[in-house]
Amino acid sequence: MQLALEERKTKQLPAGLMWANVFRAPGEFGLGKKGIPSAGAGEAVIQVRLTTICGTDVHIIRGEYPVKAGLTLGHEAVGVIHELGAGITGYQVGQRVLVGAITPCGQCEACLSGDRSQCGGALGGWRLGNTMDGVQAEYAVIPHAQANLAAIPDALSDQQVLLLADIASTGFAAAERGKIRLGDSVAVFAQGPIGLCATLGARLMGASEIIAVDSDPNRLKMAQRFGATAVVMAEGDALAEIREVTEGRGVDVAIEALGTQETFEKALRALRPGGTLSSVGVYSGHLQVPLDAMGAGLADQTIVTTLCPGGKERMSRLMRLVRSHRIDLTPLFTHVFPLEEIDQAYKLFAAREDGVLKVAIRVS
Ligand SMILES: [Zn+2]
Ligand SMILES: [Zn+2]
Repeated sequence: MQLALEERKTKQLPAGLMWANVFRAPGEFGLGKKGIPSAGAGEAVIQVRLTTICGTDVHIIRGEYPVKAGLTLGHEAVGVIHELGAGITGYQVGQRVLVGAITPCGQCEACLSGDRSQCGGALGGWRLGNTMDGVQAEYAVIPHAQANLAAIPDALSDQQVLLLADIASTGFAAAERGKIRLGDSVAVFAQGPIGLCATLGARLMGASEIIAVDSDPNRLKMAQRFGATAVVMAEGDALAEIREVTEGRGVDVAIEALGTQETFEKALRALRPGGTLSSVGVYSGHLQVPLDAMGAGLADQTIVTTLCPGGKERMSRLMRLVRSHRIDLTPLFTHVFPLEEIDQAYKLFAAREDGVLKVAIRVS
């Protein structure tokens, strides 16, 4: 994929260069010049207006998730359509669009089975900033554009919708895939941006008790704003506190939004028998399942895992939640940087300095 992209750029490159945030090697990344890409059949090029940095991008720059050297990072973008490739209908150049982190083709077996994030193979729906150049750049190619350009209503600002591309969609999916029922008790382990959106998702799904667990008091404060009815410090005996809130029952649904052995295990132990562990954390190394926490394998629990859902239908549907004032994600943007200062934005975000939750990167 990357080679094909490079080839297209050198052969069809219009005069003009752009700035892009390029991964070079673990610990080495930054703005570099690239040619403005053009749109092949089925693709679109967007001029990026607003993007952000994801925890996954931090894993990439640290060398914890491998991508090819020379790749443009980033998978969350609001932009305007700059060029439409052959076969794309119903859109105009200049139109403002939201592009999901996951850009499914909409046509393959996985997509047509409803597993769009796994388009074309395991994790295959995640292309931008993974297997092809991403959107932390002035321009970006959007693959399978017909399935992935979601027109943004004029009434909505870039900042109001950008986080629907990834973290909000993922956090909500954690709640949806946990099949939260009206009145269910839910615990959400870790209140980073995705965990906060999972908390908000639990509220939208009609949970009664929503117990937010984290070690950062500021994040727990934000969790209350996003719908948590109880907050628990991770350092204490979180499980005992959860038992107390649920009068000894345990929660119906536990959401794991960090990706560590410890939080996974706690999420499992927080469940009532027959409950559901909905995991959206990204794990590394080995993950062990303690058998005592699952009744030696007989406790009727369900464990579900979720990659961010994508595609334009998902983006449009979530935008309707913003438009109807059911959700407001803008409090998550604690900092704004211009593209020129993206390295500082990474530094701040990776080190979790200054109470940062999400940084908005203004590109144009
Ligand atoms: Zn992401
Ligand atoms: Zn597909």
